[in-house]
Amino acid sequence: MSVASARGERQLLDMLSTLDVDAVGIVSVSEIAGSRLHDQAVRLLPEARSIVVLAREIFSEILDHNTPHKEMGEGSPRDMLVPHQDYVNSRLTKSAYDVCNVSRRQGLKALPLPAANYPTDQRHLFSVFSYKHAAEYAGLGSLGWHSLLVTPQFGPRVRLACVLTQAELPSSSRQGDDLCNGCGKCLQACPARALAEPQNGEAYSINKFACSVFRGGSGSCSECMRVCPIGR
Ligand code: SF4
Ligand code: SF4
Repeated sequence: MSVASARGERQLLDMLSTLDVDAVGIVSVSEIAGSRLHDQAVRLLPEARSIVVLAREIFSEILDHNTPHKEMGEGSPRDMLVPHQDYVNSRLTKSAYDVCNVSRRQGLKALPLPAANYPTDQRHLFSVFSYKHAAEYAGLGSLGWHSLLVTPQFGPRVRLACVLTQAELPSSSRQGDDLCNGCGKCLQACPARALAEPQNGEAYSINKFACSVFRGGSGSCSECMRVCPIGR
């Protein structure tokens, strides 16, 4: 590694600690060789050496109003979730771009993956890059029965953004605890019956199409996120 590149990586690392986010995790691309996430990362940025994952809390005070049912024309408190998520997403995306700017100014290629409006394969409802798996690899939490990332501080009530960078940063990856306690509250609360108890060592079992259709029809749904007791 050249002296200039080592200096650039140190600068990037220092900058990460100043970001206006609730959690930062780092995965080294080489340590996930052979995984789907590795292939997704190098497809997007062949020079990627590190994945930086940024997380911000979704306020439970707002999420608690987000019931899935609303009368026609009703002025419902649940509508507060959209501007809140817009705020959280915009702050996260800004932080992802800030990381990229520092990386690129050091001559290290970087690609921001925003907190919203990222490319998704609508035929299979797969994102081109799995933020939650990146977050799990980075040691920010584990996957729950609702298929969401569960963090120790906020449970599943977080949004994520990522950065792929050519910088070689120290990994925060660790063998974390499985934070989901298998209480089944998310399964019982799901109005679309889209969730089932996972089998065969899987972390979750979700019918993504049932979830997507319900969310589209009702305007929004976060019941599985709302009822999860972790981080409350
Ligand atoms: S978002 Fe709603 S419909 Fe989708 S899995 Fe969660 S509770 Fe079910
Ligand atoms: S509600 Fe219970 S079963 Fe569902 S993810 Fe949270 S802890 Fe796991």
